[in-house]
Amino acid sequence: MQIWPLGGENAIGFAVVDYDFLLVLEIIVVFVFGLCIGSFLNVCSFRIAQGQSIVRPGSHCQNCKTPIRTLDNIPILSYVLLRGRCRHCKVKLSPQYPIVEAIMGMLCVLIGLAVGLDLRILRIEPAGPKLLEAAVWLSFCFFVVLIAAIDHRTGLVPDVISLPGITCGLGFITLLWKIGGASTTSRLVPSPFASSPLESVLGILIGGGFFFGIVFLSKGRMMGGGDIRIGALFGAYLGFRLALLSVLVASVAGTVLFMPALIRGRASRKTEVRFGPLLSLGAIVSSFCGKSLIDWYLKMFWG
Ligand SMILES: [Zn+2]
Repeated sequence: MQIWPLGGENAIGFAVVDYDFLLVLEIIVVFVFGLCIGSFLNVCSFRIAQGQSIVRPGSHCQNCKTPIRTLDNIPILSYVLLRGRCRHCKVKLSPQYPIVEAIMGMLCVLIGLAVGLDLRILRIEPAGPKLLEAAVWLSFCFFVVLIAAIDHRTGLVPDVISLPGITCGLGFITLLWKIGGASTTSRLVPSPFASSPLESVLGILIGGGFFFGIVFLSKGRMMGGGDIRIGALFGAYLGFRLALLSVLVASVAGTVLFMPALIRGRASRKTEVRFGPLLSLGAIVSSFCGKSLIDWYLKMFWG
């Protein structure tokens, strides 16, 4: 998608109408695609946490095990129409379903806009690098949101997610580096990804090492081994700068979100705050605006 008007086209009335229509169409297509990815992510999050296969059996109610009909399995829409309950046993379904679907839909649109995918450009330019970069970004968001969903529910981050995540990160960065996708032009947001396999490995070591330091110093009271692997995953994709920025954004977001409760005395400092979802939020914010944030900060304070 290309949200800046291409040169000269807006001079012709027809082109403007055509252009807006195409953009809206592209956004809808990408959003629906994201909803489906979100739906699959939900399946992964519930089944991996219970040690089940993510492929078999087909979609079924977690409570009564009745298979879910295709029509009752439409992202967001089915949840709204069934008022958040199973059609058969009426058990309440987790609000995680529509929330994660909507988040993935919106993230897919943002990725499309950021990378500059354009249905028309796909026709004229080799789209390989852009599509690859969009895929890498999507895989990053997938792991990050999956971690947030599982950590929010269970307080654990299974190794079967974080370790493949780190491997995928390093693999994808190597592929991007070979193809040169991270440097594609006509994009809205600078590429957040590590620019070479070396930067990715450094990211794993420093991102993971940072949390290892915290775990070591706090003797495991503040964080656990899962957090070390989350840090390494962020570093594998984003390099160590943006991985550390993710932690900073997470801390600021945590302070802002929990300060009102602390002040009103509803939470004590001992209230357990699950850091995983906050870290995921920090990583997603860093991937979309981290480089701009760092540039802005450097200009502000260092001229
Ligand atoms: Zn049921």
